[in-house]
Amino acid sequence: MLLDDEMKTKLSPYLEYIEQPVVLNICVKNDELSQQVRAFAQEIAALSPKISLNEVTLERTGSFTIDTQTAKSGITFAGLPLGHEFTSFIMALLQVSGRKPKIDDKLIEQIKTINQKLDFISYVSLSCHNCPDVVQALNIMAVLNPNISHTMVEGSSFQSEVEAKNIMAVPTVYLNGSEFFGGRMSLEQIVAKLGITSTAADLNNKEPYDMLIVGGGPAGAAAAIYAARKGIRTGLLSETLGGQVLETLAIENIIGQKYTEGPKFMAEVFEHLKEYPIDIIPAIAATKLSKGKLIELTLTNGAILKAKSLVLATGARWRNINVKGEFDFKNKGIVHCPHCAGPLFTGKEIAVIGGGNSGVEAAIDLAGIVKQVTLIEFAPELKADKILQERLKTLANVTVVTNAQTTEIGGKDTVASLSYSDRASGKQTTINVQGVFILVGLMPNTEWLADSVKRNKFGEIEVDKHGATNIPGVFAAGDCTDSAYKQIVISLGSGATAALGAFDYLIRQG
Ligand SMILES: Cc1cc2nc3c(=O)[nH]c(=O)nc-3n(C[C@H](O)[C@H](O)[C@H](O)COP(=O)(O)OP(=O)(O)OC[C@H]3O[C@@H](n4cnc5c(N)ncnc54)[C@H](O)[C@@H]3O)c2cc1C
Repeated sequence: MLLDDEMKTKLSPYLEYIEQPVVLNICVKNDELSQQVRAFAQEIAALSPKISLNEVTLERTGSFTIDTQTAKSGITFAGLPLGHEFTSFIMALLQVSGRKPKIDDKLIEQIKTINQKLDFISYVSLSCHNCPDVVQALNIMAVLNPNISHTMVEGSSFQSEVEAKNIMAVPTVYLNGSEFFGGRMSLEQIVAKLGITSTAADLNNKEPYDMLIVGGGPAGAAAAIYAARKGIRTGLLSETLGGQVLETLAIENIIGQKYTEGPKFMAEVFEHLKEYPIDIIPAIAATKLSKGKLIELTLTNGAILKAKSLVLATGARWRNINVKGEFDFKNKGIVHCPHCAGPLFTGKEIAVIGGGNSGVEAAIDLAGIVKQVTLIEFAPELKADKILQERLKTLANVTVVTNAQTTEIGGKDTVASLSYSDRASGKQTTINVQGVFILVGLMPNTEWLADSVKRNKFGEIEVDKHGATNIPGVFAAGDCTDSAYKQIVISLGSGATAALGAFDYLIRQG
């Protein structure tokens, strides 16, 4: 039995929403994966009279398509869509049957206008919590447009294909045979990357906003809701919708919610946001801020948005260590998300850089999968909580190196070695590793502000108790500011503060 009772319970209410009958076209032989795929499809088909089964020949043995009885959908799952991908499977089932995807009508129209042939393949792992967003986005594109197809390949079931392509991070997406992108991307970002998005002219024509918010994490979302509730013209511009919370699997400190998961929480935040007339401009970043009579924000495509007040909520991102090789091997053995990419390093030797909580947690998790972990910490001792350090010490395949400075990450096509120097003796050591997990904290997304807004030595925007910056009319909130602590509830609160501060400013301007 591949579907346990919990999964069947999760699935059964959704099966009621199947509109027209769907067919699972399976490609199977006698190997173990084929047997599992056949069993999975049979168990699913047994749950609804609207789902039938058929055997076909596909490119990958151990795969299946979801189609209607009359048309191909373009969606293929190679390997089992279990773990985090089970939801992707359920959504694909419903959407192929005719249920409209829950996305913006404008976006639906943009996708439908694509008239070139786009064949996507996404390589995923079932433990990757960033992968379902990408899989679901590409499936939606396939369902909406017959020119588009998408195959999800579960990496561990197609190990030789993954190795042949040197895939060392998930999700990795190929388009028409070439690598297209790696890492999380929203549907809006994928559409934008294809060059099908609001043009600079569309954006330049927008009326000035009363309040424009930059950033779509908790701080930006809270600011936008507070602004819109005042009945003023509100815009929200963000490179990605969701922010860092999407990187977080288990959240237990949002007061009033005993437990939630990052993607679920941010989906609820955006459902809330959509209740208000907020002009959301996704998948474009701001690159310059200037102030004349109005505040002007230049975007990556050259467009300029104007606003009477602005809330900066651009958050933070993983810090780099700036050593030779770090950028050459991005997605080729250098990783920031242990949950996502861990399974790709099964049986291999890896290094974790960073002895804080996230580094030590990663080393503990990875020790269960990989052959050997070397944990490298710059300081003379680890900074992680004692309880984590104690747990680390019990693991036979973990070596801890403290007081060490990483000097180079080496390799040919993918990571093969890591060099570090002992900070006391200067002695250089090179170890063989196939993966380097860099977990050395975060840095604020504020470089683009250049010298326009005052920041402290860490690059954090300095704000007062109203969220105001040194520029009249420009406010800031969340992890991009000098707030003492960086947490979701703190970002939500500071987003509200900045929006209320900006609203007071607007009132005083008359
Ligand atoms: C792995 C991990 C686990 C965590 N776990 C927890 C937890 O359990 N509990 C908790 O309370 N906190 C947790 N945090 C911290 C929490 O996620 C952050 O404090 C919070 O997300 C900050 O929200 P924010 O809105 O300020 O910024 P972010 O969430 O970083 O969002 C910033 C947004 O701005 C956008 N942006 C950036 N630059 C630009 C630009 N130039 N133009 C346009 N848009 C831009 C980004 O795309 C993003 O959407 C965790 C963080 C991480 C990384």
